[in-house]
Amino acid sequence: MAVSVEHIWADALVSIRSSLGDDAWRNWIAPLEIVSIEGTVVHLAAPSSFIGNWVARNYGDEICRQISAVGRPVSRVMMCESKGATEVEADAPKATNTPQPKGNGAAVLDLSAARAKRAAEHDGAPLDSRFTFENFVVGKPNELAHAAAKRVSEGGPVSFNPLFLYGGTGLGKTHLMHAIAWEIQERQPGARVLFLSAEQFMYRFVQALRTKTQMDFKQLHRSVDLLMIDDVQFIAGKESTQEEFFHTFNALVDHGKQLVISGDRPPVEMDGMEDRIKSRLQWGLVADIHPTDYELRLGILQTKADGQRERMPNLKIAPGVLEYLAHRISSNVRVLEGSLTRLTALADLTGREVTMDMVQDTLSDTLRASERKVTPEEIIRKVCEHFNVKRSDMLSAKRARAIARPRQVAMYLSKNLTPRSLPDIGRAFGGRDHTTVIHAVKKVDELMKTDSELAEDVEMLRRLLEA
Ligand code: ADP
Ligand code: MG
Repeated sequence: MAVSVEHIWADALVSIRSSLGDDAWRNWIAPLEIVSIEGTVVHLAAPSSFIGNWVARNYGDEICRQISAVGRPVSRVMMCESKGATEVEADAPKATNTPQPKGNGAAVLDLSAARAKRAAEHDGAPLDSRFTFENFVVGKPNELAHAAAKRVSEGGPVSFNPLFLYGGTGLGKTHLMHAIAWEIQERQPGARVLFLSAEQFMYRFVQALRTKTQMDFKQLHRSVDLLMIDDVQFIAGKESTQEEFFHTFNALVDHGKQLVISGDRPPVEMDGMEDRIKSRLQWGLVADIHPTDYELRLGILQTKADGQRERMPNLKIAPGVLEYLAHRISSNVRVLEGSLTRLTALADLTGREVTMDMVQDTLSDTLRASERKVTPEEIIRKVCEHFNVKRSDMLSAKRARAIARPRQVAMYLSKNLTPRSLPDIGRAFGGRDHTTVIHAVKKVDELMKTDSELAEDVEMLRRLLEA
């Protein structure tokens, strides 16, 4: 056995980090230490039994998968408490590679600090220096969210509280929140802004409970001028964190302090979230970021390419390339940006022009992966919007025509636009039998021949979903 367990762990960590994301990695994985691998059991040490249990329950499978992927098949994670754990306890998790912000790990900005300094501390700082309003391309899909974020960042009297931003991944929610923080920093040095992912919020809350520093926790979170909580869906199903979030929310609103919250879906659709929280999330302005359209994607690519040209004056991009990418890569902006970066890096290294051939060679995987990926969930949402039906009704057993017909249309589109099996589709519609789906598909097929209005609806929805 030439490879040490430390090496295996280090290798696996790279993929674990990219699959779990930086927040989860920093909070839960970075504090772990590898102890040994015995047979198919990997032994890890965590700074506390709380962290250990949490990791084993939530990330155990992923850890096993990634360790197996680097050549050491394992199937189970066992946790123990690391030595010296008590020292770690009082502090934020001991992140080995990513230094935590100072103090109690809070991302409270000292807003008088220069942006440049912040950017230099990027790895430990919570804000990404690229995520500014200047770098945000506005288009129809994100117009409202952008305007609302701008308004909040002007720091005037609170006009809507909270601002709730929601939309799918990679559509710019985190970008807009960082942009607000940057802008306020410039306009109102001295304002206290706190940006946290919901996961960090929970982690810090739990730490506070364990170390009996709840008062500090409350004091810190309730004394800011602007609190931003990213990806709030994370606390769904986590009762005590929701309770604390609720009180923090109320305390800030009572004092006229602004809240900005993001989520991956509208408040009403957040399963596992207490009703009183759902209702509060709707108190202010709920701004939806729609999936990008072609114009926005092209705009983002052009802006990004202009930025690259400043750094690579010899960069040449053949006509039609950006248009092609904007057309083909519609999943999310992160993938779009990544694709352009790969192309321009290659062009820079080899001194070649970015051509269509280069696109095909370099991005074949991405292009294949971005081929139509509509999900029944998305179809249900769009069809509900179109026919003005509640999602809960669509998934219910109700048979009234006004609900049953849109439901059949949604099933029909799910069959035609997704690779899902009939039983799978049935499950997505509130656990229906696959024969129901077959019936719906037949029915809509037939109706479309005679009912031109329905045929048009279906065609329009199809185009919308394939945009
Ligand atoms: P989300 O938080 O919604 O998942 P992010 O804010 O992390 O998405 O955005 C993903 C990536 O896409 C980031 O690099 C961000 O800068 C970029 N991005 C998203 N929307 C835009 C936009 N309208 N203009 C410029 N960049 C964008
Ligand atoms: Mg985000």
